[in-house]
Amino acid sequence: MKLLTLFILVSLSCQIFANPAPKYVKPAFELITLGDTGGIQDGNLSAFLLRSLSDSNYIALDAGSLVNGINVALHKKAFANITINNDPAWQTNGIILREHVKAYLISHGHLDHVAGMLISSPQDSKKPIYALPSVNQTLLDTYFNWQAWANFTNRGKPPQLNQYQLIDLKPKQATPIKNTSLKVTAFSLSHPLESTAFVIEKGQNMFVYFGDTGPDEVEKQGKLNAIWRYLAKQMPDKTLRGLIIEVSFDNQRPDNLLFGHLTPKWLMAELKQFNILLQPNITLAGTKVVISHIKYSLASGQNPRHKIRQELAQANNLGIEFILAKQGQVLTF
Ligand SMILES: [Zn+2]
Ligand SMILES: [Zn+2]
Repeated sequence: MKLLTLFILVSLSCQIFANPAPKYVKPAFELITLGDTGGIQDGNLSAFLLRSLSDSNYIALDAGSLVNGINVALHKKAFANITINNDPAWQTNGIILREHVKAYLISHGHLDHVAGMLISSPQDSKKPIYALPSVNQTLLDTYFNWQAWANFTNRGKPPQLNQYQLIDLKPKQATPIKNTSLKVTAFSLSHPLESTAFVIEKGQNMFVYFGDTGPDEVEKQGKLNAIWRYLAKQMPDKTLRGLIIEVSFDNQRPDNLLFGHLTPKWLMAELKQFNILLQPNITLAGTKVVISHIKYSLASGQNPRHKIRQELAQANNLGIEFILAKQGQVLTF
């Protein structure tokens, strides 16, 4: 009798553990926000670290603020989930930057996306920079030209210091990211100068980072639509774990003053287009969308984060989980 009770108990508990709650999916990526604003707050400009959870090394998605972002993240214990290398030659922030950041993915050449990489380059380690050809050319022409800054790359004005290897990404073609288990596929975005969205893949899992972008209806180039179509085509087989996209201004900003940026209204319009392409089998409900690049303001009485959060919540009829990026925050996807 005792044995029978034990058998029933064991088989019951096996069943419970064998059937986890259907909605729980083991995370695949970790994201650390190094910089959450789109200007003008130096020390907190667009930059994120992303890693596969099976790896203890990161790629940097833009690099507006690096060392200050790493310092804030260290203070908030954001690197608690990795084993940080032991290297007596460097402080912990130096070890993170030099040994745990394996590559830069740069969306475009605007200063608020590259300033941290430029400023920290004298003490950085050798690593690749992945970007669309026009973006790499802007880096060479504008910064790594021995005038604005020394040429730390392997191209352009000599002498080339060869610390950063510039790698031109072919649009819509997957490229493995050196020294990581990740792949990247780049898509052009509409902005005053060419910007980029990066689809990062690890196995069947996808994560998308959008650099600065205007809405298709204003820009008239259909570039966001091309990405939504690509993702919709991938999603029967692959899982979209989350995305980072910009909302620079609140809804009061007139369309003629967007300068290639989004507002809550325009982001929702774009996500609705994406959701339509996914129907009838998949929806965006429950998808984590991280909001980046909110413009910081020095003007009195202004809290753009608060307003944008409200406007997104009011318009969110797709069940999306909006998360406002916060410097030093760790998220898993
Ligand atoms: Zn920007
Ligand atoms: Zn920009």
